[in-house]
Amino acid sequence: MYSTIPLYYSNSYDKKLRAFVLALSTYAGKPAVILDRTLFYPEGGGQVGDIGMLNDEAVIDTQKDDQGTIFHVLAAEPTFAVGDTVTLQLDWSHRYDYMQQHTAQHLLSGTMHRLFGIGTVSVHFGHADMSIEIDAQELSDTNIVQLEDTVNAIIRQAIPVTSKIVGQEEAQALGLRRSIKVNGDVRIIAIKECDTIACGGIHVSNTSELHYIQYLRSERIRGHLRTFWVAGSRAIATIRKNQTIVDTVGTLLSTPAENIIENVSTLQQQLGEAQYLGRLHAVQVAKLLLEKELQQAKKVQNIPLVVVDASSWSEPYIKNLPEALLELSPLALCVVSEREDEKLNWLICLKGIEHEGAIFQAIRKQALPLIKGKGGGKPPLWQGIGADKTSKVQFIKQVKAIFLEWING
Ligand SMILES: [Zn+2]
Repeated sequence: MYSTIPLYYSNSYDKKLRAFVLALSTYAGKPAVILDRTLFYPEGGGQVGDIGMLNDEAVIDTQKDDQGTIFHVLAAEPTFAVGDTVTLQLDWSHRYDYMQQHTAQHLLSGTMHRLFGIGTVSVHFGHADMSIEIDAQELSDTNIVQLEDTVNAIIRQAIPVTSKIVGQEEAQALGLRRSIKVNGDVRIIAIKECDTIACGGIHVSNTSELHYIQYLRSERIRGHLRTFWVAGSRAIATIRKNQTIVDTVGTLLSTPAENIIENVSTLQQQLGEAQYLGRLHAVQVAKLLLEKELQQAKKVQNIPLVVVDASSWSEPYIKNLPEALLELSPLALCVVSEREDEKLNWLICLKGIEHEGAIFQAIRKQALPLIKGKGGGKPPLWQGIGADKTSKVQFIKQVKAIFLEWING
């Protein structure tokens, strides 16, 4: 077991440090370095581990084991040795971003508790946003706006975020909004008159460093509500991104932002009507195409036998064949069409014909295997896909033979 002096609490704004290599080790199968002191915060309490550089080697994570040993996890085997003095350089934008999200979470949880009596069940800090699961099933729009406004007002007041170590008994007597999870001495983080809680994470020094917090969305989880937020640079980036989206959509629609919703809803309605008319049209054309085939078809026992390669037909016509077939009878029909993905569509329709089930069974056994066909249906219509379009011609020939054999009989 090695003991590393943690300087990330006392010097949480330092970005560079000289340290002494105590040991070279591994962490979860990756090379790791143990130092006599560090600025790098090891993952814990929901806050991610720091990243940065150790001399010229990339530190991709910082972790702590159960004995308290801190591992600087490297991307590759280190070039330095035990006893060397090395330079630690923190990836400050990464660390500061998490300091902002983390402190914002304290402020949001504390303010929700103070304003609405809502407690925090769990928190998660992601790369894009931060989430707070609350012990409530709902948070009204009015409450969300009130919460945003209250927290942003606290941010503008630049209230100091302070930390102190107290004994367990004293910590318990503070009546914190969340139970204390550590034994022995407790680190208390306080934002005066806003929130006091036990926490081992890294925080900004005053609330003005959070710049701004913004609510993103909510989802239900385990009977609770999980609320998603951004703070600091992420909040500014989110506002800019959303403004760009609004501007782009407005330009596409040639409409000012305030008319976008009305405009899109009109477009949706028009699209629905156009799709309906398009489908009616496709059914009519499919019916005309089928009628043309029927006129040219060979008739046996007064039943037209139609086997069509419809690969040149447009997709909407093929898709609407079942609808087009509703008014056509009697007929024995097989339509195949090649798809863009090297496969085939197939459709069999046996209308006004005796033994139609048995005829389809014959096709299933003797013809569909040729094209590796799958699919199904019920009388009078079956359809599906064939995985092998190279046997299209044999398939057509086989279906013709089956039609003739059964309908002659
Ligand atoms: Zn904290």
